[in-house]
Amino acid sequence: MTRSISILGVTGSIGASTIEVVDELRRNGADIAVEAVTAGGNLSVLAEACRRLRPRFAAVADPAGLAAARAALSGLNVEVGAGPAALVEAAARPSDWVMSAIVGAAGLEPTMAAVRRGATVALANKECLVCAGPLFIQAAKAHGATLLPVDSEHNAIFQVLTHPERVERLTLTASGGPFRTASREAMAAATPDQACAHPRWSMGRKISVDSATLMNKGLELIEASYLFGFTEEKIDVLVHPESTIHSLVHYVDGSVLAQMATPDMRIPISYALAWPDRAAVSTARLDLAAMGKLTFEAPDGVRFPALGLCRTALRTGSAATTALSAANEVAVQAFLEGRIRFLDICRIVEEAMAALEAEAGFSAKSPSSFDQVRAVDQAARDAARRIAVNLAAA
Ligand code: NAD
Ligand code: MG
Repeated sequence: MTRSISILGVTGSIGASTIEVVDELRRNGADIAVEAVTAGGNLSVLAEACRRLRPRFAAVADPAGLAAARAALSGLNVEVGAGPAALVEAAARPSDWVMSAIVGAAGLEPTMAAVRRGATVALANKECLVCAGPLFIQAAKAHGATLLPVDSEHNAIFQVLTHPERVERLTLTASGGPFRTASREAMAAATPDQACAHPRWSMGRKISVDSATLMNKGLELIEASYLFGFTEEKIDVLVHPESTIHSLVHYVDGSVLAQMATPDMRIPISYALAWPDRAAVSTARLDLAAMGKLTFEAPDGVRFPALGLCRTALRTGSAATTALSAANEVAVQAFLEGRIRFLDICRIVEEAMAALEAEAGFSAKSPSSFDQVRAVDQAARDAARRIAVNLAAA
């Protein structure tokens, strides 16, 4: 395998798994050159990533962080940039393959820079797709970019989507998160550390909280709808605590195809990196006899209102999904910083959506440009911040 790659969000959880995959494939003889990496902060982790990957260019998000980043990366023979333009430059520099693993809508601009030059984009960041939706997909088509889903459920669907025209339904599986069996009272009192203690996956804090509210699954429903072109009614969610079946595709003849594997993000990452081939990766092999059984249950829409909010947003239109994801980012941040309680997250999202709907109405303004997307995103963040401040004061 010969590849030139860039990794956006190299210091995160997906970034770390991507480095492991690159290291292993290199040890097995692959010729992988790293053009660029980006980081939100954490210069010591970035320096270690640069030591292992040997990129030509490294960008940090903070525009005031150039001198510190240069100092941390000195001696590594890497050009350093800082600020939003440097993140975009990292993605715009020539490489065959770009891992999009910045968290949140902050990943949109850099990811679009990769899309606009027709790169192959391994898409871990779901928020940029939920945020820009149809515009993102149209841009990928227009510029000849290849989108390879890395989110494990979407990667699973992509792997078994043999006959896209003959699909009846999709099923996204969900682990159920740390509060699958928790009472509403326990959820009301949940701390950030409890919410981030995911039973199956070790991930960044934002997606971990999203998994605890099931907002992650709702965002994934929107992601699946935009990526694969299915309406909301054709996508089911099934709780499957073992996280062994990563999703299912139901065909018109009654056949159901699933992708199974131990829960390890190196599998979808290596799939995207080797695609259309597959590469040998030393992940734990699935032992079904040892597991004995797999279990399934329907999601509880009362304790987990996020799924319903996401379905409503998807039916309403792309301005609503932009707003939902933005409001959720603000609410999750407020929860992680201890300003609001766990159950307030979905409440803030719901109230922010209602406030925006009342102000202008979503259906009338499906964004037709990225500037409009940014305006809706900003309005939703402002509304969510106001509501969070009121809740914190109550
Ligand atoms: P993380 O928090 O561990 O890492 C996020 C990365 O983005 C870090 O490199 C961080 O420095 C960078 N970053 C944060 N804020 C930034 C900003 N404002 N500007 C530029 N860079 C910034 O998150 P993660 O768990 O690696 O998840 C990354 C993305 O992948 C998320 O969108 C998540 O939903 C998605 N994803 C993650 C997993 C997983 O297993 N971790 C699985 C599926 C999808
Ligand atoms: Mg997922």
